[in-house]
Amino acid sequence: MHKETEKLPLRRILSNYAYILRYAFQKDAALIIMIFVAYVVGGVGYASMDTIFMRAFINFLSDPAYSFKQTAVLVAGATIGMAVLMTFDRCTESFTRPRMIRLTGMLQEEMIHKVVTMDLMYYDCDTYYDDFVVTASQLEDMVVTAIYDLGRMGRNVVTVLVLSGLITSIDPVIALFPVLGFVVNVISRFRIMKLEYDYDVEKKTIMRRANYSKRVFYQPEYAKEIKLSHIEVPLEKQFHQAIDETIGVARYFGLRISLWSLVNWITVFTLLSYFCVPLYLGYMALVVKKIGLGEVAALNNAQGTVRNRLDAINYCIERIQRAGLFCERFRKFMNYESKIEKQQGTQQVPSEQGVLRVEDMSFRYDGAGKDTLKHINMEIHPGEKVAFVGENGAGKSTFVKLLMRLYDVTDGSISYGGHDVREYSTDEYRDLFGSVFQDYQIYAASVQENVMMHEDREEEQKKVIEALCQSGFWHRLQTLPEGLQTALTREFVDDGIQLSGGEAQKVAIARLFAKKERMHIAILDEPSSALDPKAEYELNQNILHHAGGATVIFISHRLSTTKDADRIYMFEHGEIIEQGTHQELMNLDGQYAEMFRCQAKYYQQGQDLVAG
Ligand code: ADP
Repeated sequence: MHKETEKLPLRRILSNYAYILRYAFQKDAALIIMIFVAYVVGGVGYASMDTIFMRAFINFLSDPAYSFKQTAVLVAGATIGMAVLMTFDRCTESFTRPRMIRLTGMLQEEMIHKVVTMDLMYYDCDTYYDDFVVTASQLEDMVVTAIYDLGRMGRNVVTVLVLSGLITSIDPVIALFPVLGFVVNVISRFRIMKLEYDYDVEKKTIMRRANYSKRVFYQPEYAKEIKLSHIEVPLEKQFHQAIDETIGVARYFGLRISLWSLVNWITVFTLLSYFCVPLYLGYMALVVKKIGLGEVAALNNAQGTVRNRLDAINYCIERIQRAGLFCERFRKFMNYESKIEKQQGTQQVPSEQGVLRVEDMSFRYDGAGKDTLKHINMEIHPGEKVAFVGENGAGKSTFVKLLMRLYDVTDGSISYGGHDVREYSTDEYRDLFGSVFQDYQIYAASVQENVMMHEDREEEQKKVIEALCQSGFWHRLQTLPEGLQTALTREFVDDGIQLSGGEAQKVAIARLFAKKERMHIAILDEPSSALDPKAEYELNQNILHHAGGATVIFISHRLSTTKDADRIYMFEHGEIIEQGTHQELMNLDGQYAEMFRCQAKYYQQGQDLVAG
């Protein structure tokens, strides 16, 4: 249960902490300096006034030549001093608060940008996903804490130095008590912090499973299937298992954390602070008579503040260590290199359609034991209508992802217009494609933004309406209260429009049509699988008709819908086993012909059943 967690040398932890501060400093140096100065000046001011005032006040009172006027001046001076410090405090707070929000906003944006530019392969990788989840969920807190801890550290260290000077000038022995307490505190808090961090990491990893199950139960797209099946049984089991494991982990760490806390509390507070210090001061003042009442008050105050500040230094060290451990992940995350996203090319993408050529291409997913695609050869000519068919898991979707350069090939090559696709800028190359996937998404944005997939531009309205007409969404568009500007989904707008499955699909298909002027290749990865065969056939005909001169690549299970393609490629276990026109493949009487006859028979039976 208790897996080995990160162990980092102190140097690395400190270098990590410096990395976070440097990172924040580049964003808003003035804010960090301001917080630091405010903490040091304010903190030292309060502590010194507290101690020095107390000593002077009691000495004045116990002086036989006591003067009311002198004491009143002292009290007035202390009050003005406090008021100045408090005003300074409030001013700093109102200056730093909005700037801190701006800083954390910038950090979040940077994280989003980083994720957007991550290659798709990182989503397949657990380590990446874990690093991302932990980093994204803690970044804001960690940066804010790191900045404030720098200020706190400065304040505490300077206060301890100032008060230690004062204590040593009166009676150095008293300094031993807070120092001893500090040592015990450092050791026990370090253990507690490490245990808490390990607990957090383990809990997060386990809860990812529970959160998945929970998410599935709460999201509407799963609701129907859950109600109509028993999928909730394994999901609930997984949830319970995760909760049980979390309880186990909580017990394991909870007991250890409590024990160390107890050691800390008994030694530092009960024994040293509340027992030893008053005894010693009483002895020195009443028995030895070496110090006066003012000194007793000042030393008691000063040692209490030093103890608290040392304690606070300890907490700061603890948080710095936590930030240092966290930053290890953050650095790893920031150092993930994208090999595909946002790559600049050495070649201009062709302005006219070219030949898409695949040569002896193989592909293996990162960390997979075997190739998903093996020795694929293919040539697709401008304007061709090509169909990829085959059983589930044969490799068709992977293949189109490679064509669009969502992944890079492992062996061999894919070229377009005479150049390897890796020679083009990724964005420009992808822009030649229009695609609709089976799991297309509708976004919480306007209808127009959902079609164009960028922000609303007034000059594009005509194009969007035309595309929606071609995809069959025209009638529904007429019913939308704000036409193209109608908000889709209820994520942000209470009366946002929730499209039906078929309507959503039309909006997704309209993306292709809106892009057809600059689209060289349209890819349809079973977007119509939810439709009946006739509707799917009509949709495909519609696409062929409106796709302009673009090359069209279809993936479909239903061979009846792809039989009009210029060329059909049959995939099996990552290889192309047959290729040709429908007629050629039927004449070949191989796997395709068998699959086609089989589907035709079921389809016929279905028709008969309906008719009967
Ligand atoms: P098809 O589209 O023909 O149904 P896919 O291309 O989706 O086939 O899948 C081909 C094979 O690759 C399957 O065995 C699948 O499990 C595997 N696969 C798909 N996506 C990933 C991934 N992200 N990581 C590892 N293996 C994957």
